[in-house]
Amino acid sequence: MIDIQQILDMASEKNEHTNLELIQKAYVFAAASHQGQTRLSGEPYLSHPLAVAYTLAKMGFDEATIAAGLLHDTVEDTKASIEDIDEEFGEDVADIVDGVTKIDTIKFENKEEAQAENIRKMILAMSHDMRVLMVKLADRLHNMSTLDYQKSYKQQRISRETMDIYAPLANRLGLYIMKRDLEDLSFKYLQPDVYNQIVDWLDKHQVVEKNIIDKVVNLIRNLLQENNVQGKVYGRIKHKYSIYKKMQSQSLTLDEMHDIMAFRVLVKDIRDCYAVLGLVHSQWKPVHGRFKDYISMPKTNGYQSLHTTVIGPEAERIEIQIRTEEMHKQAEHGIAAHWLYKEKGRVNSKDLEQFSWLREIFERQGGESDSKEFIQSLKMDLFKDEVYVYTPAGDVKELPEGATPLDFAFQIHTKVGAHCSGAKINDRLMPLNTELKNGDMVEIITDPNRNPNRDWLSMVKTAKARSYIQRYLRTEERARAIRLGHELLEKEGRKLSLNCARALKDGHFVFVAQDLKYDSVDDLIASVGYGHITPRRVLNRLYGVLHPEESQPDAATQLPVKEGKETQPRKHEGVSLSGIDGVLMRFAQCCNPVPGDAIIGYISRGVGITVHRSDCPNVANMEIERLVSVTWDGEQEAPHAAGIFVIAKNEKGVLASISAAIAKYNVNITGLVMENCVDGRAKLRFKVEVLNAAELYRMIDEIRGMPSILEVIREREGDDV
Ligand code: MN
Repeated sequence: MIDIQQILDMASEKNEHTNLELIQKAYVFAAASHQGQTRLSGEPYLSHPLAVAYTLAKMGFDEATIAAGLLHDTVEDTKASIEDIDEEFGEDVADIVDGVTKIDTIKFENKEEAQAENIRKMILAMSHDMRVLMVKLADRLHNMSTLDYQKSYKQQRISRETMDIYAPLANRLGLYIMKRDLEDLSFKYLQPDVYNQIVDWLDKHQVVEKNIIDKVVNLIRNLLQENNVQGKVYGRIKHKYSIYKKMQSQSLTLDEMHDIMAFRVLVKDIRDCYAVLGLVHSQWKPVHGRFKDYISMPKTNGYQSLHTTVIGPEAERIEIQIRTEEMHKQAEHGIAAHWLYKEKGRVNSKDLEQFSWLREIFERQGGESDSKEFIQSLKMDLFKDEVYVYTPAGDVKELPEGATPLDFAFQIHTKVGAHCSGAKINDRLMPLNTELKNGDMVEIITDPNRNPNRDWLSMVKTAKARSYIQRYLRTEERARAIRLGHELLEKEGRKLSLNCARALKDGHFVFVAQDLKYDSVDDLIASVGYGHITPRRVLNRLYGVLHPEESQPDAATQLPVKEGKETQPRKHEGVSLSGIDGVLMRFAQCCNPVPGDAIIGYISRGVGITVHRSDCPNVANMEIERLVSVTWDGEQEAPHAAGIFVIAKNEKGVLASISAAIAKYNVNITGLVMENCVDGRAKLRFKVEVLNAAELYRMIDEIRGMPSILEVIREREGDDV
């Protein structure tokens, strides 16, 4: 069992400036918290946090990380709270402990590789401070090395999780020794037979292998020396799990395995790399097809090295990697792993910066670099552009930062998105525009009668959801325009005694569409609905088609019926329907919206879109399917009708003073109804024309402030005064 002194010694050996008191204090706190608890091995529970802290000290982490290692199980397993830790040890330590505690709540149920990848990302995303992940990995390493005491099913589950989640994470962070240890420990429980076979075989052959390793290392060293090349030579037996993987991928038995040993030569520059390669190849015969030049052709993750396999002194195949110290540092420190992870083939300088902390850890020896900036550099948001959330079944979904349940719904399936009617986040009903957070569990409620609407566009972050909604709205709007076009044509047709339905059925509209240069009858009718062409113009053509004998150039195509002015498509009117041009619009008489009011459109049969104020009581009773969102579009020159209702004491001159006030605002009075009540009050209803709501309300305010005025409101049908 590790004791606290070993940790303190290791910490000060790695960095003489380490704050040992903090570590000592954490030790006392952990010892008190875990008092009386034992592990399955029978050892005091404290042995576990001590082992974790020792691993972290050995890796060269700062006192906050080591203290957090000692405290990492106190919040989960003892009476201590995160607030206690915060108070005693400060925010830094508390944040790390909190992060580790949170990662422990991540469920790992799904065994698919894609899910494992998402869980790894989720853990990375939740480890805002990378020291969190370091403590978690050290924790896992110790748990794996004491797994013998667990029940068999737990050994399986924990080993699988380690193999699928934590070993790849260690690898990704460039912690290769940690990765090897985690893999071999998991391998031992997941495939005990194969594992033991390899252990036995290595035991039996170790002496031989060791001799070969020493021999080859010495031979290469001499080779370098004789040729005046400076370099370091290392040799080792590969770890068990990688031997197993090689057996698998090449379908070999252990006795056929040649690549048990790996050698590495580190030199100072690229020229020397090729020089060493030449020397090795002149000494031993290279195996055909095994030479890889990753220096002139780096891997997409930036990895650089020369790889070759030669027939060695004992007629054994030996694998040799040759690289510069610089390349080695990169390869070992996992910077490359990050590039691979993000986008294939793109080396991003931002990522390089993010990982500089890792390099620093390995480079700082007895360091003076224990600065605030260094600690700060450990706190970074990997994947801060992404969030990871769960489905109720435990699948993890990746979404961009700021994504909402609506994005999540579309991620699951466009059908789920399209009919999404609500969402539960962590079992609570939440609005569809709620921003999702890492680790949220999201459940979507669907309703077959619900469909996308325009508001959804402002709620989604993902391209997938956005393009689906846009596509839906476009088709939906076209369908509406066609419906509306039919209604307009029929209504106008009735006035002119033209049977449009009949003409459609008989195919007469085909010629009308052709004449008017539309690709199809539907296009023509949609165009009527959109207001690009008036029904009258279409019907004039139809008349011409139905009565060719009367048709003469120009004038003859006019209908003989006189029916007032042709309705111009009131293209602007100051209101636009987002996404649609020039629909026929009119303002509702019931609420008289003026520019500046919140408004909503209603597709009225036969008249196009009627624009109401969105708080108009009539809107509440309208068919939701026919409501469309409309907006004022800036330039409004034309005055709009509005009503003002005034209650005043029936005194002399009241009407005159109100009229004068209104006139000041350059507002036209177009109508007035006055009613004298028996109680001595007068009710006045003004019809006015104003340019915008602001002006209207300013005017109302002024009238309200005048003497003798009891009440002024903007009139709206349905309002009771
Ligand atoms: Mn633990």
